[in-house]
Amino acid sequence: MTVTATEIKNRISPDHYYSRHLKGHFGRHTGHNWYHWNGLCPFHPDRKPGSFVVNRESGAFKCFACGAQGGDILSFHMQASQLSFRQALRHLQEVYP
Ligand SMILES: [Zn+2]
Repeated sequence: MTVTATEIKNRISPDHYYSRHLKGHFGRHTGHNWYHWNGLCPFHPDRKPGSFVVNRESGAFKCFACGAQGGDILSFHMQASQLSFRQALRHLQEVYP
């Protein structure tokens, strides 16, 4: 049985997901629930940390250098791994049983 996007999002906290899937750490608070990612952006050949921000509550992400963005970890997972919506759901279900 395939899980729904809501189930996956309830199961995996954005904090947990990003600390596992991004190598580096979160830096200073930039505003309500938003943190700078003090690592490199996974969506462009990044050389200067700090353009990529993540919302620890919703899982939304945005890169101010290349414009990559999404509203939740599912969206990140699809783009980072180049998966379809269904593939991303299935993969996350396997990684977080
Ligand atoms: Zn970027």
